[in-house]
Amino acid sequence: MNNKYELIYEGKAKKVFSHDDVDKVIIEFKDDATAFNALKKAKFEGKGKLNCLISARIFEFLIKKNIPTHFIELKNENTIIAQKIKVIPLEIVLRNTAYGSLCKQTTIRPGTDLAKPLIDFYLKNDELNDPLITKDRIELMNIISSNDLNLIVDLTLKINEILKIFFKNIQLRLIDFKLEFGYDSKNNILLGDEISPDNCRLWDLNQKNDTIVSLDKDRFRNDLGGLIEAYSEINRRINKVI
Ligand code: UDP
Repeated sequence: MNNKYELIYEGKAKKVFSHDDVDKVIIEFKDDATAFNALKKAKFEGKGKLNCLISARIFEFLIKKNIPTHFIELKNENTIIAQKIKVIPLEIVLRNTAYGSLCKQTTIRPGTDLAKPLIDFYLKNDELNDPLITKDRIELMNIISSNDLNLIVDLTLKINEILKIFFKNIQLRLIDFKLEFGYDSKNNILLGDEISPDNCRLWDLNQKNDTIVSLDKDRFRNDLGGLIEAYSEINRRINKVI
């Protein structure tokens, strides 16, 4: 990145730089992968570019469906321009099918279809290991008003309906995903972060039998191999339909 732009923040998978316009930021997607709260780390050449391209296409699609997001435009293959937001320190996870931590923490069997989408809130706090929290605890900590939390829940449910169809059209089953939101300078709530196989579980529907084929970060979490091949396949399918 051109050093005229100041690095404002570096996270596990992205770098955020300043922009000439103070209301905008430049976000660069990195090749680093982390799992289990960064206990497991690796680098996959090309992952940043793939996530950036996939996420950009998905955000463009959501914007067309009137979802307010931070996304402005793709700058190059691994960089986007976005609205600057004050990130709300919550991870909003929506689950259509039980998998991952839900099955480790409950008696629900992996692969169980949920009668209705489940929304779980996690506190974004590395020191505390991003704990699962409740609506009441969010209120207690004054993170956001209950009105804004309701707004975020409604947006998340709406995004799920849009994404389920989007992915089904490219023969993928949307198991679960994580979203982050923030406030822009006018205090509007915008969808931030990214939507990519790093923060969605996507199972291939092009399977003759019932075996689960994960085309997402579970390839890294569970040492399945073929992460770049899986992400490339998703990018290929998205570009075929759009
Ligand atoms: N997720 C994420 N970041 C996190 C934790 C989870 O993007 O820090 C996503 C994950 O990719 C999955 C969904 O949220 O699509 C649900 O993850 P889960 O709670 O099952 O966590 P995990 O199995 O990763 O422990």
